[in-house]
Amino acid sequence: MRLYNTLSKKVENFVPIARKKVGLYACGFTVYDFTHLGHLRKYTMDDVLIRTLKHEGYDVNFIQNITDVGHLASDEDTGEDKLEKGAKKYGKSVWDVAKEFEDYFFRSMDLMGNLRPDKSTRATEHIEDQLNLVKNLEKKGYTYVIEGDGVYFDTSKFPEYGEMAGLDLKRQQEGARVEKVAGKRNSSDFALWKFEREGENRAMVWESPWSKRSFPGWHVECSAMAMKYLGEQFDIHTGGIDHIPVHHTNEIAQSEASTGKSPFVKYWVHHNFLKVDGTKMSKSLGNFFTIDDIISRGFSPRALRLLLMTAHYQSEMNFTWENLSGMQKSYERLLKIVADLQKKVSESEKTDEKVVDDFDSGLAEKFKSKFFAALSENLNTPQALAVLWDVTKSNELSSFEKLSLVMEFNEIFQLDLEVAELALVKIRSSKASFTSEQGREIGNVSGKTTGLPEAIQQILLDRETARKNNDWNKSDGLRDLLLEKGYKVLDSSEGQKLERIK
Ligand code: AMP
Ligand code: ZN
Repeated sequence: MRLYNTLSKKVENFVPIARKKVGLYACGFTVYDFTHLGHLRKYTMDDVLIRTLKHEGYDVNFIQNITDVGHLASDEDTGEDKLEKGAKKYGKSVWDVAKEFEDYFFRSMDLMGNLRPDKSTRATEHIEDQLNLVKNLEKKGYTYVIEGDGVYFDTSKFPEYGEMAGLDLKRQQEGARVEKVAGKRNSSDFALWKFEREGENRAMVWESPWSKRSFPGWHVECSAMAMKYLGEQFDIHTGGIDHIPVHHTNEIAQSEASTGKSPFVKYWVHHNFLKVDGTKMSKSLGNFFTIDDIISRGFSPRALRLLLMTAHYQSEMNFTWENLSGMQKSYERLLKIVADLQKKVSESEKTDEKVVDDFDSGLAEKFKSKFFAALSENLNTPQALAVLWDVTKSNELSSFEKLSLVMEFNEIFQLDLEVAELALVKIRSSKASFTSEQGREIGNVSGKTTGLPEAIQQILLDRETARKNNDWNKSDGLRDLLLEKGYKVLDSSEGQKLERIK
C-alpha cells in the first residue's frame, strides 16, 4: 500500500508501527446538524481506505470520535459552541440534538455501506482523559491562562509548531493577523480548555482546576481519545483538508508536547472537498443535501457511492444532480449485468455445465491485480472503477470469472452487487412510488387496505414471478422488503395476501 502523507507531502510506502496491525483514527462528525453529502464523501473514502487495508491483510483498529462539545463556530477560539447553536436552531436541548444527529450520521453511514468504527468515542464521555492531557501540558510548562477565557497552548514553546501545514510561525507570532482573543501571546496559540462566559448559561459544563463551569476545546478531544485507544503514537489519522492548518496542527503540537514522542501520527491522510456550485458543501453555509434528499428524489445511496468513486480523494469534486442522474443509470446497468451473470452461473451449476473449466485464470488474475494495484497506489478509485467496467465488458472472461471478480471488487465498492436482483426491484419499487401516490385496487389482498401503492404492486408481481421460478431466496427477500414497507404477506392457495401492519 502506498499513501500520500501530508507530513512528507509525498506518496510513501505504508509501513505500520506494528507488523500487520493498523491503528487508524478518523476525525468524526460534529453532531449539531444534518450529515450531508460532503461528509458522506469523506467517510466513504475512509471506508475505501479501511477496506483496502483489510483486503491487504492488515488488522485495522478503527477509532472515530463524535464531537458533541467544544467545537466553536470559529477556528480562532471565538464564537458560539456549535452544539449550543444547533440546540437553538432546532429548539431542543443540546443532548437531544447531539443524540438525534449522531443517529442520523450512523443511519447515513449504514445506507452508504460504510463500516462502523470498532469504537465510536463521544467527547462528552472522555472529559477526564482530556482534562488529564491539559493538566500534563500545564505541568510541563506549555500553557497559560487567560482570565475569564480559558487555558491556552503557548505555541512559541513548541518550535516544530505548524511544520505539517508549512505555517510561517515567526510571522504568525509577530501578530500578522488581527488578534480576536485578547491576551493571547501568539496568534497561533489555541484554547485547550474554555471557561463559561458571564451570562452564557451553557448546558454542557464541567468543573476543572481553573473554573467551576468549563469545557474542553475541540482539538484536545481528538488527541486525548486517539491516544487513549491507539497509544501515544499510531499509524493513520484522517480528516478533511480544512483540518490541516488548525485542528491537526494543534493536535500534533499538544500530543507531542505532552508525550515527548514524535511523530504523534505516522501518516496523515486528508480528503478534498465535495462542492456544490463551486462552494464547499457545509452545515454552516446551509448549501447542503442529505442522504434523504438523494432517496426522496428517487436515487440510490449506492449510486452516489459509485459517483464518489469516480473522483480521487485528493481532488475536489463538484456535485450536480445531472451527474448523479447519469450515475444512477450506470448503476442500474451494472446491477442488471450482475443479476444476469448470477442467473447464468446458478443455472449452469444446476445443469452441471462446466463453465468453470473454460476459464483462463491468467486473465482473471490480471484484472484482479490491476484493480487492487490501483487501490494500493494511493487509493486510485477512478482507475479501479475502470477495471470493474472492463471486466463486465470483457469477451474473454467466462461468466463465472466475471462474477467472481465483480464480487471481490464489491468487497471494497459495496454496491449491493451480491443482491443485484433485489437491489433492482427496490429501485423499481421506489421509482413507482414517485410516479403514483395512490395505488389501484388489486385482487387477493386482505386486511384494511383496499388500494395499494404501485410500488407495492410491483413487489408483489416480482415476488409472484420469483415463486413461480422456485427462486425462494428472492421471494424471501421481497417478503422482507414488503415488511419494511409495512405489509405482511401471507401465502395461500389463492396467491399472496397482504396485511397492513403499520
Ligand atoms: P464536521 O462535522 O464539520 O466536524 O466535519 C466532519 C468531517 O467532514 C471533517 O473531516 C470535515 O473536513 C469533513 N467535511 C465537511 N464538509 C465537507 C465537504 N463539503 N467535503 C468533504 N469533506 C467535508
Ligand atoms: Zn479531530
